[in-house]
Order: sequence, then structure tokens, then C-alpha cells
Amino acid sequence: MTGGAGFIGSAVCRQLARRPGFQILNLDALTYASSLSSLAEIADCANYRFIKGDVCDRRLLDAVFANSKPQTVIHLAAESHVDRSITGASSFVQTNIVGTHTLLDAALAYWDKLDNPDKQAFRFLHVSTDEVYGSLGEDGLFHETTPYDPRSPYLASKAASDHLVSAWWHTYGLPVVTSNCSNNYGPYQFPEKLIPTMILKTMRGESLPVYGDGMNVRDWLYVDDHAEALSLIMESGRPGETYNVGGRSERTNLEIVRTIQALVSELAPQKSRSSSEIEFVRDRPGHDHRYAVDCGKLENELGWRRRMTFDAGIRATVQWYLDRRDWWEPLFSGRRLGLRD
Ligand code: NAD
Repeated sequence: MTGGAGFIGSAVCRQLARRPGFQILNLDALTYASSLSSLAEIADCANYRFIKGDVCDRRLLDAVFANSKPQTVIHLAAESHVDRSITGASSFVQTNIVGTHTLLDAALAYWDKLDNPDKQAFRFLHVSTDEVYGSLGEDGLFHETTPYDPRSPYLASKAASDHLVSAWWHTYGLPVVTSNCSNNYGPYQFPEKLIPTMILKTMRGESLPVYGDGMNVRDWLYVDDHAEALSLIMESGRPGETYNVGGRSERTNLEIVRTIQALVSELAPQKSRSSSEIEFVRDRPGHDHRYAVDCGKLENELGWRRRMTFDAGIRATVQWYLDRRDWWEPLFSGRRLGLRD
């Protein structure tokens, strides 16, 4: 797996480590967005190993393939924050496009030399986002057949990586599967994304910056449900196919922030200061209006079901950030960044 020290990757690692039949090798460059403490509970598991490394490093990848002989690659390593891509796109191009290309080439070189049964069994699962499909109006859903229309540098780089993955299937026959998932939330998310940022700001009594009029709509999925979907797609997804993953939980950004305010004041009334007020700020350039995904193919073909409702998941997430100061506080010390607006 790549990117296993990030938000979603660490959830996948924690889930797979509970399955003794799985040997997990987590390769991650440990960028600012990573946290090895997200993996503390599995760090000593016999079936889990970590290697610090960059997906752009072909020599390292060749050595990792040769030594660990994986049956599956789950590719999650990425630069993942839209706002950062707007102020500096080069690391997004490097990791998301060049890194995915380097990993595909290393996987192909390894796969080409496998014997037939292993060749058949091998899978390259590429983890992507539904945001590559563009922006929706008030109605409709993204389907697997929706044409790509990425609007930000982050999404252009993810779209490019999806196309590379598809080309390695059509051109070379590498057995790839791609998943395109809606917005994730839950424990261990780096506090620059909407939900953890708003939880921590509410706890600290800081103002809550909301882009534009706050009416942008996102579909939210609890991260452990995404991790389960990825296991299922890895094991049963058909090579060359794409599976959309979603939560059927559309909310405006304003609804999200108001829900968080209400939950913090219920769960930790002493932390919800009166100064935590919503402040509407200048909209993000190219801010897509609405994303929502049809995940019927994943449900009908592979039998996946979301387990966590949004109401239960957001409550559990707020409670987790209230309880786990030990996880998030160190992210703001030393070279780590403060909360971003
Ligand atoms: P994240 O930013 O939390 O984690 C990314 C991880 O990748 C980090 O641990 C980082 O150290 C690692 N990484 C970055 N550059 C690397 C490199 N060059 N080599 C090796 N490792 C590197 O991201 P996330 O939210 O966990 O997202 C994981 C994947 O899922 C991404 O591909 C993202 O596009 C996709 N995705 C995310 C969401 C979401 O809501 N967060 C939704 C759908 C899809």
C-alpha cells in the first residue's frame, strides 16, 4: 500500500491488520499530512510493516516489489488538499501524476515477470475521488460513465492519474481497478480539511471561516466505510473497471459547520465559546457547487453497504477530536502548520 500514514490509508491499514491472513507493507513519504501516530495501535502487529519512501523513487519501488512480492497494490499516496494545489501545484503534479506513473511502471515490470496464476490474481487498486467528474447543479448524480471535468489543480492531477491507470490496463493489460469516492470524514483526518478544522476551531473559540455563501454541497462518507469498500473492490472488483463510492449523505458546508457547533456545545459545553461564530469569507476560486455520486454499481455488483449514518458518524468524529488531543496537538508544534482558513 502507498500513503498508509495518511487519513484514509491509515484507516485501511488498521482494518486490514485485523485480518491475520494479510501482510501489509505501508510505503509512505511522511509528508506534512501524514502521522505515524495514526498507526500506533498496529505498529507492532506481526502482519504490518512500514517503509519511508517516495512513490516517485523508481529504484526503491523496484526493490520493494522484488523483496515483498505483493499480490495487490493499493495506491493512496497523494497530495490531497485543493487549497494547497491552488497556491502551489507542482507537488501535486509530481506525486499524483509522476508518482502514479512511476508506480504503474514498477508494478508492470514486476507483474510481467509473474507466473500465470499470480499474474491473474494481481490487482492494482487506484484510489481516486468523485470530484474529477466536475460540478453538478441542484439535481443529478455522478456515474462511472460521467465524463471527467476537473476544475482545480488537485483534481486535474487526480484525473491525469486516473487516465494513466486506465491506459496501463488498456495498453499493457495490467489488472487495475479504480475507485472514485466522495468526501471522507472521521478520526485521524489532518486538521486542514473542513470537518476537523471546524471542530478544532469551535473547541478553541475561534471564528469559523466558510467559503462564499456556504451553500456548496458535498456527499460525506465515514472513513471506515470507505476502507471497507476498498477491501471489497480489491478482492472482488473486476479488472479495468471503475467503482464509485459514496455516502448518500449530501450536506451544505453551512449545515456541516452548524452541526459541528451544536455537537461541540452538547458534548463539551465548556469548550464551545460564544466567540465561535461563522464568518463568510471570499469564495475559493473555481469552487465546485455540488458533488454527489451514484454508488449503485458497488452496491449491486459487490454488495457493499455504508454502515455509518452521517448523524452517528459526525457525532463520533466530534467526540474523537475532543478525546484525542494527544493525536492532533503535536501536529501544530515544530514545523507543523497551524489551522488554515
Ligand atoms: P492524506 O493527505 O491524508 O494522505 C496522503 C498520504 O500520502 C500521506 O500520508 C502522505 O505522506 C503520503 N504521500 C504524499 N506524497 C507522497 C509520495 N510522493 N510518496 C509516498 N507517499 C506520499 O490523503 P487522504 O485524504 O488519506 O487521501 C488518500 C487518497 O484518497 C488520495 O489519493 C485522495 O485523492 C483520495 N481521496 C480522498 C478523499 C477524502 O475525502 N480525503 C476522498 C476520495 C478520494
